Amino acid sequence: MNSISRRSLLTGSLQLTLLGTVGVIAAGCQKTPAVVCANPDSLRDAEMSLRQSLHYTELSPRSEQVCARCGFFEASAGACGTCKLLKGPVNPKGHCDSWNAAKS
Ligand code: SF4
Repeated sequence: MNSISRRSLLTGSLQLTLLGTVGVIAAGCQKTPAVVCANPDSLRDAEMSLRQSLHYTELSPRSEQVCARCGFFEASAGACGTCKLLKGPVNPKGHCDSWNAAKS
């Protein structure tokens, strides 16, 4: 009887742990862009510093303010574009503090 209770307790704990892990992974996936354009390892220190000072992020927190709709964005053939201001690859779904609406 006592070992069955322990088994139930351990099984229940394992299930809760797995549910929590799946929940954390699912929540994390929502904030992860499908494509990562700016590889920090390939950027020079000055480029990284500028990106950090402008709070560049690969996935914009504001759906209407994304790099693809910014006046500094230049589309390219691949999944990523480039930024005239940051002088390097950026994610079309990215964002930074210098976002400025592109003129249509
Ligand atoms: S200025 Fe900022 S928001 Fe605009 S394209 Fe460059 S990184 Fe994106």
